[in-house]
Amino acid sequence: MSHANLLIRGGYVLTMDPAGDIPGGDVHVRDGVIQAVGRNLDVPRAQVVDAAGKIVAPGLVDTHWHLWNTLLRGMSDGKPALGGPDGHPPGGRPPVPPEARPMDKPEYRTDESGYFATCVALGRNFLPGDTYAGTRLAAAEAIDAGITTVHDWSHNIRGLDWAEASLRALGESGLRARFSFGYQTGHPNDRLMALDDLARLAAGWPAYGAGGRIQLGMAWRGTGGSNPAMRVAPALYREEIAAARELGLPVSVHACGPAAAAGQVATYADEGLLGPDLQLVHLNNASAAEIALAAQAGAPVSVSPWTELQIGYGQPVTGELLAAGLPVGLSVDTTMLSGNADLFAVMKVTQACANGQARHEFALTARDVLRLATTDGARSMGLGAVTGSLTAGKRADVIVVCLDSPSLGVFTDPARLLVTAATPRDVELVVADGRVLKRDGALTAVDVPEVTRAARAALSGVLARAAA
Ligand SMILES: [Zn+2]
Repeated sequence: MSHANLLIRGGYVLTMDPAGDIPGGDVHVRDGVIQAVGRNLDVPRAQVVDAAGKIVAPGLVDTHWHLWNTLLRGMSDGKPALGGPDGHPPGGRPPVPPEARPMDKPEYRTDESGYFATCVALGRNFLPGDTYAGTRLAAAEAIDAGITTVHDWSHNIRGLDWAEASLRALGESGLRARFSFGYQTGHPNDRLMALDDLARLAAGWPAYGAGGRIQLGMAWRGTGGSNPAMRVAPALYREEIAAARELGLPVSVHACGPAAAAGQVATYADEGLLGPDLQLVHLNNASAAEIALAAQAGAPVSVSPWTELQIGYGQPVTGELLAAGLPVGLSVDTTMLSGNADLFAVMKVTQACANGQARHEFALTARDVLRLATTDGARSMGLGAVTGSLTAGKRADVIVVCLDSPSLGVFTDPARLLVTAATPRDVELVVADGRVLKRDGALTAVDVPEVTRAARAALSGVLARAAA
């Protein structure tokens, strides 16, 4: 895959930088870099893409996603796949009566067929090739959906081979990525994560980093959350985060999922562990005091509204996080819960929840939420100078959205169209790090039938081993 010399001409350019929108604008991409953004650019030898009547925007930024478990898409209710065509009793699972599930219920409920249990039961049967197949499928979906940056929160690393399998898939994909080296699903909470392997990766990073396109980070267990059985001893979690910081790596932790986990952020604050290098995921149940502590420390937050709602963590609290001044990014999290990696839909539900909670039609505007999926998301990942806006000098992560589908069809407010109407099928062109990864609506560097065939075969193997 070589860097393109591309002139994207005459589109409605949402730069998402202080220059503002440029109707009828051009974007010139060469050598992986945005060379110029403006009107009537004169670039004699560039290949021209006609973007007239289309929206040109920065590639979307995901800030937390377990790419490996895309192999288990839709399996957050694991019984059918583990048991047979329908693991539930005839008539299905009995519905939970409404009075039993108010949003402010203190305890959190799931069962042995839920996301975490399924993740552990099947995750332990992954071989490196399965991690590769799952990550490759996720990467293909990201490209198709106009996502050019992913944060691969890799929490089923069962040995160095698994990490290398993820990195191979990310490297081949052409996407910009942070690879956060984690533990493994079902990791014994009295055992350290594989810090030696992390150090080995860090030492040999040039071989994995795809020329700077992929960064290394740590996916940290932290205190382990609300379940006493999962609690990690302070000596262990402190040693883990210290190791990451010694290597100069950014860290990410799931904080405050279920209500009973409230207090995690306060714990990290007490121990002096919060900082701009520690991304906090899911602050749904953080107290106002905790949000203030995170803001004081400059800790970025990743919000994944679909999965937070689906798993029962409660409503995303994007409005409160933004009001406190926290750097916020949006995320896919896991397609086991969200089903797909449609970041347009993530933007839409983020806005809808924020406005619904505030009882205000414009508490969060389409433009605000688009910023979260581009500039702000990039900034929250420490990539503000690299990507997130169409600015000369930044790396070339660009999408073109076509308005010809029946669900678009008219040109009105471009930010609103992207947030409320566009879907991955409307993404016509995707350029990541200056390489064309989707053109005329089709992936250019991924053999999709081959990737899906490999994913199905890998899943069959995982299920067979799990049943054995
Ligand atoms: Zn997650």
